Amino acid sequence: MTVDGPYTCKYCGRTFKSLQSLKSHLQNCPKRSLPREFSKGKVTFICYMNPRRKVVNAVNSLLRKPDFNEQQLLGVVRYLQENGEVHRILMPEINKN
Ligand SMILES: [Zn+2]
Repeated sequence: MTVDGPYTCKYCGRTFKSLQSLKSHLQNCPKRSLPREFSKGKVTFICYMNPRRKVVNAVNSLLRKPDFNEQQLLGVVRYLQENGEVHRILMPEINKN
C-alpha cells in the first residue's frame, strides 16, 4: 500500500506534496530539535539540534582526533549554538566511568 500526500512535518506542521520534499525540508526545519550527545574525556554535552549529517559527522570527526580536548569541544558546541545549528546545550555531566 502506498500512502499519498500531503505529507506533514511533525515538528512544524508544514505540509508537502511529496515525501521527497518533506525529506529535504526536515534537514532544514527550524523546529526539528533532537538530542545528540558529544563526549570527550570526562564531559558530555547534550546538544538539541537538527542533526544534519554533515554537521554531526564533522563534530564526530574532530572527536576522533587524539589532540582534540574538552575545551575545544566546548568551543565547537558554542560555535554551533551561535550560528543556529544547535538550539540548546545541556552542560556537561561528569561521565560515570
Ligand atoms: Zn518542519
